[in-house]
Amino acid sequence: MPAINTYMAILTNRGVKKFIQLMHQGQGNTISGELARMIDPRILKKLSKTMNVIAVTGTNGKTTTCNLISNIFKSGHIPSVHNSLGNNLMSGITTAFIDDAGLNGKMKDKWAIVEVDEATMIPFLKEITPKIIVINNFFRDQLDRYGEIDLLIEKIYKAIENVDAKLVLNADDPFVNRFSDLKNEKIYFGIGPDAIHFEKNSMADSKYCPHCGRPLQYSHTFYGQLGYYSCECGFKRHDPKFELENVRKADHGYEMTINQSDYTLSLSGVHNIYNALAAFSVAQEIRIPVEAIREGLETYSVKNGRMTTYMINHARQVLNLVKNPAGYNITISEVNDDPQKKQIVLFLNDFEADGEDISWIWDVDFEKFRNENVWQIICSGTRAYDLAIRMKYAEIEEGKVRIIPDLKKAIDQALDSKSLTYYLPNYTPLEHVRSYLEQKMQSDHSFPVTEKRMVRN
Ligand SMILES: [Zn+2]
Repeated sequence: MPAINTYMAILTNRGVKKFIQLMHQGQGNTISGELARMIDPRILKKLSKTMNVIAVTGTNGKTTTCNLISNIFKSGHIPSVHNSLGNNLMSGITTAFIDDAGLNGKMKDKWAIVEVDEATMIPFLKEITPKIIVINNFFRDQLDRYGEIDLLIEKIYKAIENVDAKLVLNADDPFVNRFSDLKNEKIYFGIGPDAIHFEKNSMADSKYCPHCGRPLQYSHTFYGQLGYYSCECGFKRHDPKFELENVRKADHGYEMTINQSDYTLSLSGVHNIYNALAAFSVAQEIRIPVEAIREGLETYSVKNGRMTTYMINHARQVLNLVKNPAGYNITISEVNDDPQKKQIVLFLNDFEADGEDISWIWDVDFEKFRNENVWQIICSGTRAYDLAIRMKYAEIEEGKVRIIPDLKKAIDQALDSKSLTYYLPNYTPLEHVRSYLEQKMQSDHSFPVTEKRMVRN
C-alpha cells in the first residue's frame, strides 16, 4: 500500500484537474500539480524512483527536442511519460508523472521524457535522478527572471555535479561546453564544418572564454555564439560523437546525413536541425533501433505556431513565435528569404510569462528589415512604443512604421491591405493572435496551410 498522503495526492490531483478543466480555465495541470505537491511533497521523488528519466533543458528547442524523442519512442513502440503540454515547471512535471501512476502509486511506464525549464533544473535534480540530461543551448531569454546567464549556468552545473546522469551536450555552444568539466559521462552532438551555412548576424552571447576571459576565436559560426570556437588557454569545442555531415532542403523539411546515414526531418527552420541532432543522440545512446529513429524523425511535424500560414482574403498570413534574439534573428532571415513584398506586425508584451525586461529587443537585428520588400511594419502589444523606438534606431523609414498597441486593431489594419503579412508575437500575444487569425480565416472560408515551408539552405 502506498502512504496515505501519496494516495490522497494522486486522487486530489486527478479530481482538481478534472474540475478545473470543466471550468475551462486551462490551468488544470499547474494547480493540480501544486496541490498534489502540498499534500505529499515527496510525490515526484517517489513516482520517478523506478523510472528512466530523460531530462531536456536549455533556452531554445526543449519542446521540439522532447517531442522528437517522444515520437521516436512511439515509432519504437516504447511507452513513455511526457510533459507534452509544455508545462516544464515542477507542478506540470509532477502532474505528468501522476497521470501515468495508478492509485497505488505504481507507474505504468518505465521511461519518462521531461522538458525542464532551465531555472527549474535546480529543484528538479533534488527530486529526480535522470538517466540522461540533454543541454541544447543557452541564449539570453527572460533575464529578469533568471538573473545573469553565467549565474544560471553555474547553478545548473552545481546541481548536476551531484547527479549520476549521462550528459548529452551541444558541442557547438561554448556556454554548454562549460559542463564538460563535470565528471559525468558525456557525449556531444554538433554540426560539421561544411554541412550548413547560416547567415552572419551580430548577436553573440558568449564571446569570451569562460575559463580565462580572453575573446573566443571562431573558425566557423552557425548562429548566435554557436560554431567552432577555441581559446589560447585550451578551452575549445569538443569533437562530437554524433555529427551532422550534410543537410539538404527537402519538400517538407530536410534530408540530413548524420554519421554517414541518411535521415529525413519533416520540420522547417534550421534551428530544428539541432533539436533533431539532440533527439537522435539520445535515441542512439539508449540503443533504440535505427529504423525507429528514422521513422520518428520523419513522421514528426509541428502545428504549434512555427511559421503557420493562413489564407485570408487570398493573401498569405504567416504567424511565428519570437521570444529571444537568437530565434528572432533566424526568423528575420527567413522572412527576408521570402522574395515577395510583405508587411510585418510585431507584437511585444511584457507580462510575467514574457519576462518584464524587454531590453533584449536591442539584440535583435531589426536593421535587416531595412529593405524594399518590407513595405510596412506595425508595432503592437503593451510595449508597442518600445518597438517603434527600436525601429527608429534601426533606421527603418519613419513612413513605414505604424504604432497600434491594440492587438486586434493591429491585425484588422494588416488584413485590410489584403497582402502578404508576417505576424511575429512574443509569448503571451501568440495565442490571441492565432485565435483571432483563425476566426478571421473561418469567416473568410479559406483553408489553413499549416507548416508552410519558409526554409533556407
Ligand atoms: Zn580561455
